[in-house]
Amino acid sequence: MSEEKFDCIVVGAGPAGSTAALELARQGLEVLLVERGPAPGSKNMMGGRLYSHSLHKIIPNFWEEAPVERCVEKEELCFLTEGGAVTVSLASPELGEPPDHSFTVLRADFDAWLAGKAEEAGAVLATGVRVDDLLLSGDRVCGIRAGEDEILADVVIAADGVNSLLARKGGLRGELPSRYVSVGVKEVIALPARAIEDRFGLGEGKGAARLFVGACTRGVQGGGFLYTNRESISLGLVFSLHALSEAGVSVPEAVEDFKLHPAVRPLLAGGEVVEYSAHLVPEGGLAMQPRLVAGGMLVCGDAAGMVINTGFMVRGMDLAVTAGATAARAVLAAREKGDFSAATLKIYEEMLRETHVSWDLEAYRNAPAFLETPRLYTTYPELVVEMMADLFKVRGARPKPVRRMAIEHLKRRVSLIQLIRDAWKGARSI
Ligand SMILES: Cc1cc2nc3c(=O)[nH]c(=O)nc-3n(C[C@H](O)[C@H](O)[C@H](O)COP(=O)(O)OP(=O)(O)OC[C@H]3O[C@@H](n4cnc5c(N)ncnc54)[C@H](O)[C@@H]3O)c2cc1C
Repeated sequence: MSEEKFDCIVVGAGPAGSTAALELARQGLEVLLVERGPAPGSKNMMGGRLYSHSLHKIIPNFWEEAPVERCVEKEELCFLTEGGAVTVSLASPELGEPPDHSFTVLRADFDAWLAGKAEEAGAVLATGVRVDDLLLSGDRVCGIRAGEDEILADVVIAADGVNSLLARKGGLRGELPSRYVSVGVKEVIALPARAIEDRFGLGEGKGAARLFVGACTRGVQGGGFLYTNRESISLGLVFSLHALSEAGVSVPEAVEDFKLHPAVRPLLAGGEVVEYSAHLVPEGGLAMQPRLVAGGMLVCGDAAGMVINTGFMVRGMDLAVTAGATAARAVLAAREKGDFSAATLKIYEEMLRETHVSWDLEAYRNAPAFLETPRLYTTYPELVVEMMADLFKVRGARPKPVRRMAIEHLKRRVSLIQLIRDAWKGARSI
């Protein structure tokens, strides 16, 4: 066994791990940041947008130096049927006002930059190293095993993402329940900056985010996303794993159909697919949160299920950044006491309760159950598109009052009671 001992080992150089390592290294701790990918970000993917508020607190005005793509000033929600689409669009410079704005990002660039900030502060970054196990001293975690190497530390921060081997090895959680996990697939499609700005009606350097619900997932719980980068578009679909396995939908076929949809195809014309990736998303919120501390160990970010999906917004990056920073603060507090027992590290839970991570997870605790409503992916998008089509179609027949037309559509698709129930559940979930 090597005699190497660090003050803290952080496993995973995603936003949670790199932020934790950065904050600890800034305080002079000897920190090892371990990443299994050949470079930070090489194993990571997401739809594509970072909400700035949390990282701004760690690195003020980070967007001036970070490899961000475009500042999102246009938010769109698109209801899809097989051939039709209704898009609700909000374009406002207010969306681009710092620090509560958001940027599209590509993880390979962004994660490498953030891990680099931790290195600059003094953390040791080890890439291409997969952690296989935890080392225990009695019932306390005292280091990690990676292949033949055993490395000791006062405390380990598990920031190893949705599948977190370490949270399982540390007894903090069991297998991932498929009910609470979605799978996301994404293509990055290269296009000239000018074409992107023209097609989305954007000013130079400005960005758009569009979420899709309806036919793109073939009735399966989930949705589509599209984010504009500088010279590419990130386009993808997310499916609830358990609903997907029941429906037997082919994901590659669904992606191809999505790209051919009349509302999507013109946006991609002439583009070249330069990247394809898939990743899991922990979407159960509080219902899937594991225990957050054990003796000598804390867990944060996706490893702790810290993701919000409201149906019109997926957020995990900003929660990961805040959770990583909070885990670092908890480690510093434990270090001051010279005690890394579970009882002392529990201060992490108390500290988290004073952050947006807990506020968000609490506020959206009913969202995962609401998103299981099957009508959200079939009936309601179809209703929206049909009603809008009727509204704009001139048939030369006796006109119907809009109210009557709307009621007729509703009656054909869903009972009033059902509608009220869904609306009530929806209102409670957000
Ligand atoms: C399709 C999709 C769309 C999304 N869209 C958005 C979005 O638009 N906005 C947003 O905010 N969030 C989004 N998310 C969620 C967001 O990507 C995550 O919440 C965020 O990346 C979590 O950060 P993390 O640091 O906790 O984990 P990760 O980013 O997953 O990082 C974990 C790191 O640990 C490493 N690792 C894992 N196991 C080991 C091991 N044994 N040894 C060493 N290293 C290991 C991994 O390689 C990885 O680098 C999306 C996710 C998906 C899948």
